[in-house]
Amino acid sequence: MNLVPKSVLNIGRSENMASTSSAHVLMKKGKRAAATYVHSECAQTPIPKNLHELLDLILKPSKPIDEWEAIDWCKWLMAGGRTPDEFSAIVHGYDNATTCGLVWTANFVAYRCRTCSISPCMSLCSECFQKGNHDGHDFNMFRSQAGGACDCGDTSVMKETGFCEKHGPKAQVNKAAAPGDLMCVAEAMMPRIILRLIQHLRQNSHVKTSEEMKQAIKDADAFLTMLHDFSAMGAAMRKVMTGALTNPQVYKNLTDYESVETRAVCKEIAEFMRESKRVYEEAIKSLPNPEPPDEYKDCPSLQQHLVHHTFLEELVFWTVVFEFPQKTVCFLLNMLPDVDYKECLTQAFVLHYSRISMMLEKSTDPDALSNRVVHVSVQLFSNESLAMRMADKLHLLHVMVISLKYMMSNILIQNTLHDADKNFHYAVDCASTIMKDHCYWPLVSDLNNVLSHKGVALKFMSDDSLLNMWFDFLSMFQGMNVNTRETTQHIEFEPNTYYAAFSAELEASAYPMWSMVSHLTDPELMPYTKRVLKNCLSAIQEWLEAINFTSESAVDTCKVSFHLPLHRYFSVFMCQAIKQQKMSLKEILPPPEVLHLMMIHPLRVQVAFYEILTGKWVRNGLQIKGQAMTYIQCNFCNSMVDADIYLLQVCATQLPPSTFIQTVLDNFQVKDWLSLSPYHSNNIFVSKHNDQMLESFLTFLSVLMSVRTNLGLTDASLIQLEMVTLLCMGDKTHSQLLELMPERCGNFQGRDFESELSEVAHYRQPNLEAGGNMQQGMYAPRPHVWENMYDPVHILLRAVHRRDFQSSLDNFTEYARQTGQMKSKSTPWPPYRTPSPVDEAYEDPRKLLKCKTMHAVIFSVLLRALKASNVPEQTLSLAVFLLEMAVDMTEPQISATEICQNFSSERKQIYDLDFQNWFDTDWLSANLRTQIDLVCLPEEMDECRSADLAALEVPHNSNMAVVPAGLNFPAGFIRGFPPLMAGNELVPVNALTTYYPPSTPTAALFPSMRALESVSSETVSNENTPMQLALENVESNSSSSDDEDERRKWVRKEESSKYQAVYVGESIISLLLKLHSILSGVPDSFDLNDCEPPAPVPNSPPHPASNSRIGDGPFFIAKLLYKIAKMDPMCSEYIAQTKLRIWPKTEEEQEAKEAKEREERRRRAKERQQKLMAEFATKQKQFMEKARETECSEMDWVEEENTVINTLEYDCVICGQSSPSTEEKPMGLVVLLQASSVLGHRKGNPEPEILPLTDEDRLKFSKSIENTFGSEFEKRVAQLNREFDGSSWQLAVNLGCESGVHVQTCGHHLHMDCLLAYLNSLMSQQRPTSLAVERGEYACPLCRQLANSVLPLSPELGDCSILVRSRNTSMPSVAAEISTLLQENPPSVRSTPIKEAMNRAMEDMAKITDGHFHHYHNVGNPPTSQCLVLFVSSIVRTNLEVDVTQRGGTLCSNLDEAGAASTHATQPKRSCLVPLLHVLGMHAKNLATWPVWQTWQQVAGIVNSQTDQAVVKTMQKEVPLLLKDPSALLTQFLLLLPMRLEQTHFTCVIKSLFNLLYFESLLQVISNLSDKWRAHFHNLSTVDLSTLEGCISLLVNSLHTGQLFMDDSELGESAREFNKAEIEVEVQAYCLPFLRIAALLRHYLYGEVLPEVASEEREFVRLVYFLELVTDGMEWSKFNAAVALNWAHGDGAPTTPTVAPFVTLSAKTIVDGWCQELLSMAAVSQVATRNLVQHHQRWHQPRLLRLPDNYDKIFQYYHRRQCVKCHSVPRETSVCLLCGTMVCLKENCCKQQNVCEAVEHSMKCGAGTAMFLVVTSSYIIVIRGKRACLWGSVYLDSFGEEDRDLKRGKPLYLSPGRYQLLEQQWLSHRFDHTNKKWVWHRDAL
Ligand SMILES: [Zn+2]
Ligand SMILES: [Zn+2]
Ligand SMILES: [Zn+2]
Ligand SMILES: [Zn+2]
Ligand SMILES: [Zn+2]
Ligand SMILES: [Zn+2]
Ligand SMILES: [Zn+2]
Ligand SMILES: [Zn+2]
Repeated sequence: MNLVPKSVLNIGRSENMASTSSAHVLMKKGKRAAATYVHSECAQTPIPKNLHELLDLILKPSKPIDEWEAIDWCKWLMAGGRTPDEFSAIVHGYDNATTCGLVWTANFVAYRCRTCSISPCMSLCSECFQKGNHDGHDFNMFRSQAGGACDCGDTSVMKETGFCEKHGPKAQVNKAAAPGDLMCVAEAMMPRIILRLIQHLRQNSHVKTSEEMKQAIKDADAFLTMLHDFSAMGAAMRKVMTGALTNPQVYKNLTDYESVETRAVCKEIAEFMRESKRVYEEAIKSLPNPEPPDEYKDCPSLQQHLVHHTFLEELVFWTVVFEFPQKTVCFLLNMLPDVDYKECLTQAFVLHYSRISMMLEKSTDPDALSNRVVHVSVQLFSNESLAMRMADKLHLLHVMVISLKYMMSNILIQNTLHDADKNFHYAVDCASTIMKDHCYWPLVSDLNNVLSHKGVALKFMSDDSLLNMWFDFLSMFQGMNVNTRETTQHIEFEPNTYYAAFSAELEASAYPMWSMVSHLTDPELMPYTKRVLKNCLSAIQEWLEAINFTSESAVDTCKVSFHLPLHRYFSVFMCQAIKQQKMSLKEILPPPEVLHLMMIHPLRVQVAFYEILTGKWVRNGLQIKGQAMTYIQCNFCNSMVDADIYLLQVCATQLPPSTFIQTVLDNFQVKDWLSLSPYHSNNIFVSKHNDQMLESFLTFLSVLMSVRTNLGLTDASLIQLEMVTLLCMGDKTHSQLLELMPERCGNFQGRDFESELSEVAHYRQPNLEAGGNMQQGMYAPRPHVWENMYDPVHILLRAVHRRDFQSSLDNFTEYARQTGQMKSKSTPWPPYRTPSPVDEAYEDPRKLLKCKTMHAVIFSVLLRALKASNVPEQTLSLAVFLLEMAVDMTEPQISATEICQNFSSERKQIYDLDFQNWFDTDWLSANLRTQIDLVCLPEEMDECRSADLAALEVPHNSNMAVVPAGLNFPAGFIRGFPPLMAGNELVPVNALTTYYPPSTPTAALFPSMRALESVSSETVSNENTPMQLALENVESNSSSSDDEDERRKWVRKEESSKYQAVYVGESIISLLLKLHSILSGVPDSFDLNDCEPPAPVPNSPPHPASNSRIGDGPFFIAKLLYKIAKMDPMCSEYIAQTKLRIWPKTEEEQEAKEAKEREERRRRAKERQQKLMAEFATKQKQFMEKARETECSEMDWVEEENTVINTLEYDCVICGQSSPSTEEKPMGLVVLLQASSVLGHRKGNPEPEILPLTDEDRLKFSKSIENTFGSEFEKRVAQLNREFDGSSWQLAVNLGCESGVHVQTCGHHLHMDCLLAYLNSLMSQQRPTSLAVERGEYACPLCRQLANSVLPLSPELGDCSILVRSRNTSMPSVAAEISTLLQENPPSVRSTPIKEAMNRAMEDMAKITDGHFHHYHNVGNPPTSQCLVLFVSSIVRTNLEVDVTQRGGTLCSNLDEAGAASTHATQPKRSCLVPLLHVLGMHAKNLATWPVWQTWQQVAGIVNSQTDQAVVKTMQKEVPLLLKDPSALLTQFLLLLPMRLEQTHFTCVIKSLFNLLYFESLLQVISNLSDKWRAHFHNLSTVDLSTLEGCISLLVNSLHTGQLFMDDSELGESAREFNKAEIEVEVQAYCLPFLRIAALLRHYLYGEVLPEVASEEREFVRLVYFLELVTDGMEWSKFNAAVALNWAHGDGAPTTPTVAPFVTLSAKTIVDGWCQELLSMAAVSQVATRNLVQHHQRWHQPRLLRLPDNYDKIFQYYHRRQCVKCHSVPRETSVCLLCGTMVCLKENCCKQQNVCEAVEHSMKCGAGTAMFLVVTSSYIIVIRGKRACLWGSVYLDSFGEEDRDLKRGKPLYLSPGRYQLLEQQWLSHRFDHTNKKWVWHRDAL
């Protein structure tokens, strides 16, 4: 507690001479002057009377609290003459807080570091986390749910190493204290300010609804903000505030109206105070508290009448009354760094705690309220010493338990377990609101928090009355939510109460249990454990009495409750006492009678669990399954199923074995199944469930025998076992493993996790599959896990679904087969493991297996497995496993007494189901050898049963057809069993006396067997199945006529006979031998002599006698028989004898058998060989097919054209018919059209741009990101548009970099008619589809890929007859022919179906750009034909350029490491360029209305001598040739020339255009040559046009007269010297894009294989040779770009006559002509010309922005960043990965014309395609046209996992592979074909 300034203490008693007038005078002075005055007053006198008068005016309670003027006055006064901002800054300077204490509310992003934490609740604000050093720590980021506060600097919560430099005890040691007068006004004012707040709250105490409450707090919002601001000034101001809040005297003086009354003048105030007090007292009365037990009535925190001593206490009171308003809560928490205040706040909170619990119950929004309560309590109770003081001083623990108990006591209902009428137990009603809404959650959460402190927990456990209350409380959960099995009809509605019940048991019972138990690690603390156990036990006994359960036979088989918290407390504390405190069972356990009663309910839960699994509860609906699954799932299993199993294990060892087994048998109700009486087993109603229940019974026994979880397994082994269990069910990610590991409620030891994991699992890197699927990093079991650790019993214990168990078996089978340990046809049995020994404090539960009762049970199971057809192999495997464990448990030495015991001499009468008396002793060896002959059925056949049977007319054998469906047993297994059980012969007991057992006990006793025999004897010569053979042989010796007679005696006697018996005649050993034989399909299959395991051979099945546990049924039975034989000699002897008895051997048989085996071996060897051969052949075939496929796809068009002469036929994928494409019945190619801006994103910089992560970077970035082809081109077009006529410049360029049309195909064809019908059928479908059919979308009928158009296939394709052949080969004549062809260009007029189809395809292409194109012509006017041709030719250009881009930006061969060429990842498999050219060509030809040939003549340098000689035009508004793009001209010429053009023509076009391009490039490069060098070239005497110098000279000479070149004075710095090599490289670089396009065209049109280009330097030279621009070989040194120039005519005369009427110009004349044209333009607009000359540039591949490795960098910068447009912080900040633009995803703020920002941006930036990184989730959203998908994350954690929405908050790192995949999908336009979940975004992203 801190001292409070005296001035305040004396207010009440100060003389009242104040006059309001003086205050008014002060006010008139203005705020600053008044403040200065007040400050000096406060500094001088402890009783600043003027201030108080002023405050009386300012803070008048009758005014609204939020008056701006009043608040402003307060701030100014407080500042004492400075401005409030100055004051705040100064006070801040004295902030010496050692802790951060930043308070946050829900959704705030904070950090948690497990390495640095002491308390698990520790959390850090982002700033403190960033500034602290947590490198390599185990930390995560999280989004706060309930709100919290930063713990930086708090040594009780976290280690000092994690503090930031600002916080921690050492951080502020040198900080000066604030000077005394700084805070004097604040000290005087603060109590009055707080009083004003309290008055406001009192004034509003009448409000009732939560809306009104919210409004009342909102009314004070500005006032509270002021208080928040004060608190934010730091420790100095907080001290003043907490002083005012916690001083009792201040509170008394200011609130006591008696004392106020003495101030006569303030009558008004006094009146107000009186009223205020009245309201306050009323409010106190209205907040009820739970009635405490008498002894705690006087405890302040429990007493009925609340008394407040400080402002703080009253403020907390109002906070409670107003249901924890956020702003008030934060205000209270803001000051927590003040230690004294923290104590006071905690006290005040505890004082109201019991009342808070009452609030929770009543609240309308318990969830929100709970969060806000915990927001406070977690700050207070996490501190151990504080919690301890609260427990001591204010009985915090009692308050908590009483509150919990009180809350539950209101919702109790009478329990209905067992006989409801005699049950006087009351349990909670799980349907009540308190249970369903988790109203108790804040209370148990706080209780857990305080119990995590050892001192507090020990205090709890040392207090009997507390424990007594606690178990009273838990009793209310005991037996809650009773389920009653529906047997007649399905329940009508499924209650969802079970969820409430399970969460209550976990949260309110188990969590505190584990908290308490975790402290009991020391033997010295034994008294605590004992006290808990004592109280628990008496609670259990009380409960048993209350439910009237006094005898274990009173079990109720139709009801179950999964909730036994008392049993589980007993179990868990007992386990801890023995494990950690070395207590003995004896000290803990109650007497056996009580123990026996105690085991019944956990056993009942187990049985019910299995009943539910087997479908007995199916009529109770899904919810009952939910309960069974919840019972065993990872969050609950430690507290529920494991505790139950452990308790039952202890009971199994402490109760008489026979009693225990009987009890289990009774509860599982499987006796019917085990009975030999046909009246039990033949009832088809019970059989199905009972079969499964028997398996469940055996599973349960196996679990009981072999689980060691609580019987001494070390923590490390336990972790491994649980991991293995999870991994065997399927590969898991790291986080799945963490999440699914059974957790002791927060006690999980993470430190061992990684090392144990690496032992049992290997990690598989996150993979990218070929199809683009992305896998995460996964863990899979190591081989030794399958060999030694995979434990099917433990899987059965943990598998929530049966399929989990099955998949573990499947995985195991796969492993066994892969390693060759399993033949491919047989199925392995689950490899049950021999359990490890138990801790010495326990007896091994396997002791049950030594009991003769158990032996008899196993006998019955084996017998049934042999005789009945419907016993699943799983059941048999479990029985064999149990028997194997029994053998393992038996000591090999045989005691003399046992040997002496005569076990076979005397035959006694044994009775069906009387398992205890089947065998005489517990001696296993003897019991194995004992042959059971006759079993009496003592029961009377009851009337009812026989009536039932009669009514059903169940023939004796028919039930054998009833094979349970849905079990996981291999087909074929069941087939092998003889259908027998039905035939159990009934023998009257009186016959027994005269009866002698048959000499051959295996005699076929069963009628059905005879039938089988006769069949087999008839077919004996035929090829019998092994099984038939086996059966035949098994029984071969039993068909002697003697036996036949013998058997006849066994006919059933008359029905009236009451005592009957069944002849069995088997021993366990004989049963095993027969089962082995049947399972292996060979008679007498078990070979005892083979008992020494051979040395293991890799990749071959292991021997049964080895230690391996991988094998099938015969393997395990053989294993068991070997063990039996080894156990004692009598057994091995007995086995041999029995074998002989069943299968007597003749020598021939022996020989035959051996011969047969030899044959078998030979056959197998042959089979193996054949299989190998077949495999090889398949592989070869696959390889060939693959090779052919790749060839085909590359050469698609080529092949078709070259091999087929006239008619090319296509297969229609709809009708399946092949036909050629004709004018009348055209075929089409399935295509997908997409708008694309990929080309526009080509970069000027070779380095990809980096996503900016600081403001500074962002500034630089915004400039460099502009340097793209798209934006440069935009500028050029703008300039062209200024200078020239549209009709001219539109023919000088291609468009399409911003919104080009990209065409791709899957390569499938269809009839146009068929498609139309297909589309119509799609249209008429009513159901919603993922296709926009109305926009022409469809899925390719064959490959299902998305398509939206179809390219009609021109009949010309493949038709060689119409090839235009050249008559001449000389270049001038070819050039002349081209001119003529261009001029002729006969457009067809006739409309045919194929023309219509082509028109439709064209329309589709126009539509896909969504009007982007219309941007270039005037809206309203119809587009000119030039403009349309521009669009058409641009499509060709776009597709060619995209092709280049997809090949990596060059035509360099993509060489892999071995040097072999491979296709680029982005390269499409098939091109549809040729059919596309046909479609576009047809349109272009119809549109070309201007003399195209003139352009051609100008390029090629030919003149039509008959017409105008002046080809060279000088029109000003025409684009000079040297400014035209040669590639654009190429596309035009190509479209306007006939499609089937000979290669000579094509090459001529390329040659001529290259000439132009060369001079364009050269001009651009030398345009800034210095004066000196220009003069040099001007004066060059010889002009050789095959050299660079010659060409420069030509250009300089032609242009020197004009205004184009700049002289040195203009150029200045940029004037360049001549550097031959440099200039050559530049020129080549500018020429390359054209050459690439030309080469691709040549490749597609003429099927020529592209040249291999080994390196980028070689690309130019390889391409000019490929294009035949150069044909002669030459030395590398002589090569330069100029050698690729080809002129129609040499350098000589100016003109040469060629093909009349054309003449060819000389090269010089041609170039000179081009230059003159340019000069005439330069004469008019010099600057523009100079600019436009610079039009070639090197462009680099389009790339996505480079991202940082560490995701946190992105998160820190972009998360909570404002949108530049709307300045709000979007909830899902998203960044465009192409340009770095931030958009408000899904928000309305930036919506325009109903289109959200991201969609709008996708159109602007990516022509409809965009990739956004959603910063708040780390995921990538791809928008593709009208669709969008969640693409996945390119950031993975260190385990290769995604963390969508940053739920785990672990550090994330860039996955380069994934990011590359994203980029590739973008570049290759493949998004539409990726296998993602695409949704219609409806413009809402
Ligand atoms: Zn902090
Ligand atoms: Zn800090
Ligand atoms: Zn740390
Ligand atoms: Zn068709
Ligand atoms: Zn297809
Ligand atoms: Zn963008
Ligand atoms: Zn925005
Ligand atoms: Zn916005």
